[in-house]
Amino acid sequence: MKEHTVSEANRTFLAKRQGLIIDGKSVPARSGETFDDIDPATGDILTTVASGGEADVDAAVAAARRAFENPSWRRMPPAARSKLMYRLADLIEDNAEELAILESLDNGKPVRLARAVEVEGSISAFRYFAGWPTKLTGETNPVAGRGGARVLNYTVHDPVGVVGQIIPWNFPMSQASGKVAPAIAAGCTVVLKPAEQTPLTALRLGELALEAGFPAGVLNVVTGFGEAGAALAAHDGVDKVSFTGSTEVGRAIVRASAGNLKRVSLELGGKSPNIVLPDADMETVAAEVADAIFFNQGQVCTAGSRLYVHRDCYDQVIEGVADIARRMKIGSGLNPDSQLGPLVSHEQRERVHAYVNGGREEGAEVVVGGGTPSGFDKGFFYEPTVLTHTDHSMRVVREEIFGPVVCAMPWDDVDDLVRKANDTIYGLAAGIWTSDLKKAHLIADGLQAGTVWINCYNFLDSASPFGGYKQSGWGRERGRYGVEQYTEVKSVWVNLG
Ligand code: NAP
Ligand code: MG
Repeated sequence: MKEHTVSEANRTFLAKRQGLIIDGKSVPARSGETFDDIDPATGDILTTVASGGEADVDAAVAAARRAFENPSWRRMPPAARSKLMYRLADLIEDNAEELAILESLDNGKPVRLARAVEVEGSISAFRYFAGWPTKLTGETNPVAGRGGARVLNYTVHDPVGVVGQIIPWNFPMSQASGKVAPAIAAGCTVVLKPAEQTPLTALRLGELALEAGFPAGVLNVVTGFGEAGAALAAHDGVDKVSFTGSTEVGRAIVRASAGNLKRVSLELGGKSPNIVLPDADMETVAAEVADAIFFNQGQVCTAGSRLYVHRDCYDQVIEGVADIARRMKIGSGLNPDSQLGPLVSHEQRERVHAYVNGGREEGAEVVVGGGTPSGFDKGFFYEPTVLTHTDHSMRVVREEIFGPVVCAMPWDDVDDLVRKANDTIYGLAAGIWTSDLKKAHLIADGLQAGTVWINCYNFLDSASPFGGYKQSGWGRERGRYGVEQYTEVKSVWVNLG
């Protein structure tokens, strides 16, 4: 198949100096500082991006506040807000090819994946949440007034206000859309801080939102480093912060938010157990559990990174996964044959490799992978890696690696298995593979995880809540919970005399 081609539209965009989007305009950082955005498949500079700091966050928050208070947004009929969101979804669809290639260049993921997950995910997020402005209803409550007074009591969902959203680099555009869409549906205004590694599709989203007709200041995009995110999390003018990323930064956000006790929601790391029972479909299960870890180069918060396979089928399944890993096509995201692109950055590859080496030192066996694939001296590629002889004392089993590395462990007893699956600070997701649905439900019942997949993995939909138990986060995104977290509930009492 032919390489995906970088279009004229892509070239024109990349040739620009990327500004921040504040109050409907593209502006340089107040400091004048910029940083280079790197193509992870080559290590070359893709484009230069404004490096926003505290002063830019101040300006963006002020713009978001003005937009929030402006009647043109605050009093916009809900159906008109929906219409703008549908229009934005249509614009993303119109520019789907350009956006998929841009995402692939910036993040490294294969174009096919960028198209299916980032672009389609964004379109469906805006279309799903576009339905919510007209459906965010309150309740009337059967209450009694003091002294027997006749009363009416009802609730309304007010938008929480100005929202700071900080996102990571693993799913740049779908994360941006998945956060922006529910906030806007609820009537909030947004300051979005994309990850320094992958700022480009968030900037395009900001441009497209203006093209769709959103008032200036409703969606502001401040690119930059962690300091910009920290300024946003600490800002007294921000009413809520929503963060996706590492558990460590999640803790920093909670601390920073304490000043004005802003609302906080967090979608953090994971170390998800993927459980194979001996009666699973042996024709397909190796491919499924391989995909659960290697999808998106393993840079997935829900990655099935702890693989528990029943001892009766352990050798067969592990051999199957190793075989798939050996045969995976590694290459640039622009090559349509690539199944595995580069990791996002040099640092990320170093981090992943340090984990694998640490695992080796602690006694893990590398069945396949464990280094840079041969012939890839440029870019940040890493081999799909299978570790065996691993146990819960090892860092590779306890900590999130965020790369294409799976730790396999056999199991015998189901109660012990569930205990092990829950023996983690995380609780984001889990997978169960079996033809016995009764057993699957019983295991699911015992798992501490925000999402449990039975005979599937990484299925996500805007209509289904997503989030973590334990240190995997606070709150749920998507679905009704996802939009309600951008609201304050107001209870109104009327004395009917
Ligand atoms: P990270 O540091 O948590 O970054 C996520 C976002 O937070 C980025 O936009 C980042 O900006 C920003 N940020 C950094 N420090 C901040 C602070 N003090 N206050 C507010 N915002 C801040 O993640 P990372 O360093 O890119 O990746 C490190 C590890 O985190 C990975 O290896 C992986 O284990 C985990 N991770 C998890 C997820 C997930 O979806 N759960 C996603 C990404 C990473 P900058 O990009 O400018 O630093
Ligand atoms: Mg980049």
